[in-house]
Amino acid sequence: MPVIGCTCEACTSSDVRDKRLRTAALVQYTGKNIAIDCGPDFRQQMLTKKVQHLDAILMTHEHNDHIIGLDDVRPFNFSQRKDMPVYCLPRVRKELEHRFEYIFVTQNKYPGAPMVQLLEIGAGETLLVEGINILPVEVMHGPLPILGYRFGPITYLTDVKTLSDETIKQIKGTRSLIINALHRDPHYSHLSLNEALLLIEKIVPERAFITHVSHRMGTYEKISELLPENVTLGYDGLEIIEDWT
Ligand SMILES: [Zn+2]
Ligand SMILES: [Zn+2]
Ligand SMILES: [Zn+2]
Repeated sequence: MPVIGCTCEACTSSDVRDKRLRTAALVQYTGKNIAIDCGPDFRQQMLTKKVQHLDAILMTHEHNDHIIGLDDVRPFNFSQRKDMPVYCLPRVRKELEHRFEYIFVTQNKYPGAPMVQLLEIGAGETLLVEGINILPVEVMHGPLPILGYRFGPITYLTDVKTLSDETIKQIKGTRSLIINALHRDPHYSHLSLNEALLLIEKIVPERAFITHVSHRMGTYEKISELLPENVTLGYDGLEIIEDWT
């Protein structure tokens, strides 16, 4: 948000926290940078946060708002002189190969096309990326199984509609939980604000942050008043710091 052409209160708000690029995150640990998702605003997000190098990308799922910025890994290819590792589900791998055919062709690939190495992962299978232990967990995005990620004390979940008991068990003990809420009305594949708050109560993190927010949610200021003390409406550039030893 703002949405093109929309004149609602949230879209016309002058609060910078109501200017939202597409949902994504950057995880920084021991000098390593790992991006979660690579949507249409990836380039702008990397520029705003002055990200000098990127070690890997973890994809949550194949929807456009989470993958379509992949072409913009090129500056990292040039400066780092290597393929960008992209971790994803096997289904997402197929979709990326189809949507970005020019990146993955084996013959007559044009010079300067992005260099990407796709690596298949699965929910519940811990992976080690640049020395960092990451647990992908299964999230149900309506009928679509997708991935969320746990990094020790921090869990990042987006595009959740429901979570299995198994997933809730895997993320118990998380101190900071990032979870989505689209707006206040029910939606078939995204949590509403109330549904997100109920899940937060069930997971019991020390604090939670709401992401993937639509303009229909309302303004940052108004929604913040409705939230429990340990829940924050996320905004672009928000930094969450946790000790992880
Ligand atoms: Zn609007
Ligand atoms: Zn989605
Ligand atoms: Zn999405």
